[in-house]
Amino acid sequence: MTTELFRDDSYLKSCNATVMGTGEQCVFVDQTVFYPLGGGQPGDTGTLSWDGGAARIVDTRYVDGGIGHIVEEGAAMPDVGAAVELTIDWDRRYRHMRMHTAMHLLGSILLYPVTGGNISAEKSRLDFDMEDTVDKEAVSEALTRLVEDNHPVSCRWITEDELDANPELVRTMSVQPPRGKGSIRLLEIAGVDLQPCGGTHLRSTAEVGAVRIGKVEKKGRQNRRVNIHLDD
Ligand SMILES: [Zn+2]
Repeated sequence: MTTELFRDDSYLKSCNATVMGTGEQCVFVDQTVFYPLGGGQPGDTGTLSWDGGAARIVDTRYVDGGIGHIVEEGAAMPDVGAAVELTIDWDRRYRHMRMHTAMHLLGSILLYPVTGGNISAEKSRLDFDMEDTVDKEAVSEALTRLVEDNHPVSCRWITEDELDANPELVRTMSVQPPRGKGSIRLLEIAGVDLQPCGGTHLRSTAEVGAVRIGKVEKKGRQNRRVNIHLDD
């Protein structure tokens, strides 16, 4: 089991850790700041260094149920038990956090079921189950307003028992929580969005910065794909 430091503090850029195991081009550690591919958000990239060596991490993803730090082909590997330092490519991750938070804002403006989505540092998209046309200008304005109003963003863990005791809370959520793991991580953008989410977010919506609605694509009768871009 790897302690997922990024879940409680998404602003951590590096950490020390101990190598728990290695696979082909893959390193497992006891704790990490690297976010593994999931929920439409890409895995982190960065560096892994140890006494006498270093390797580029080109991706992070779940491998055999653990968080695998995928090293560049042909890279040196640390020994199991070695003390290592892990550092993420912060500029890339911070853009993912801005995009990810912006996606929640977009979902709070377009109140339709979300059928898919993808985040990248350059461009992101969210697919909605909707027939209506999207008023691009109005959505852009609403998005800018939510950013400028600087709503605080927070995450907290809640047990399934607590959820069952608070049906009101479940009713307020824009997406229903998954069951069966005992506890659920809730994302809250004060007054804007409340839903289960395991991704990395900003501390407040103002950090999203210059965001713009791009192309709106019609993907079938019941599906609209809305693209968003960061303007810096
Ligand atoms: Zn999220």
